[in-house]
Amino acid sequence: MIFILTGAGISRESGIATFRGAGGLWGKVRVEDVATPEGFARDPERAHAFYNALRRRLVAGAFAPNAAHQALARLESGAGEPVFLVTQNIDDLHERAGSASVLHMHGELRKARCRNCRGTMLWDEDLSRASRCPLCGAAGSLRPHVVWFGEMPLRLGEIEAALRSCRQFVAIGTSGTVYPAAGFAAAARERGAGALELNLEPSANAAVFDRGIYGRASETVPRWVEETLKNRQSRFPAGGILPPD
Ligand code: NAD
Repeated sequence: MIFILTGAGISRESGIATFRGAGGLWGKVRVEDVATPEGFARDPERAHAFYNALRRRLVAGAFAPNAAHQALARLESGAGEPVFLVTQNIDDLHERAGSASVLHMHGELRKARCRNCRGTMLWDEDLSRASRCPLCGAAGSLRPHVVWFGEMPLRLGEIEAALRSCRQFVAIGTSGTVYPAAGFAAAARERGAGALELNLEPSANAAVFDRGIYGRASETVPRWVEETLKNRQSRFPAGGILPPD
């Protein structure tokens, strides 16, 4: 199994700002205001306005998947082994590029969650304090289905199981500063997996990887995917009969 972890860097060339670095979102809004449960409790309308603005553009199709998202969809269908794709991104660009199975460990912008009944639902409208949960009818209980700082990422059990069984771990466009995702590479390596990072520059975590390819994701990811698919073809030529070792 190949385990892929993507971060905001893979969507940068689709026009979605990363959090850190030049032009990053944290230079424009305060993380405490829009990405913590306390900030939401203090001023829900401010947090809603931040996510509403991004959701509106996502729903309107303002961001298209780029060559890196598309290459990962090709990898999924051609790798000949399971590809476990985990993203920290709340956008839907992997799905729109054709990836069939995507685990959003930090939630999804096009979903809402009810704090009353705990239901999760597709949600493409603006959210506000007046929004009513269609499942339980409660008013003012909906929040973006996004994992904020201090909250537990989603589906960690599945992720840990995949980290134990993958043969290759690949991190793409992630700064290696947000835990627990930043600890995944070390966990996979401890179990004997190879670890590769594809990022604009060496991440905070670079020393943990046994290989790094640096540059824009739209160039490095398709190149790496084609190389991986070609290596597979030469190991397992057409016909489906495995060559002797
Ligand atoms: P981050 O902003 O901390 O780091 C982004 C990384 O991508 C950096 O290391 C940067 O060097 C690299 N990068 C920038 N442009 C790149 C490019 N063109 N090609 C390759 N790499 C590039 O983001 P993160 O590590 O994902 O971490 C933090 C949090 O940000 C996550 O929780 C995620 O949910 C959230 N986030 C998501 C989105 C989104 O959904 N698209 C956008 C911003 C932030």
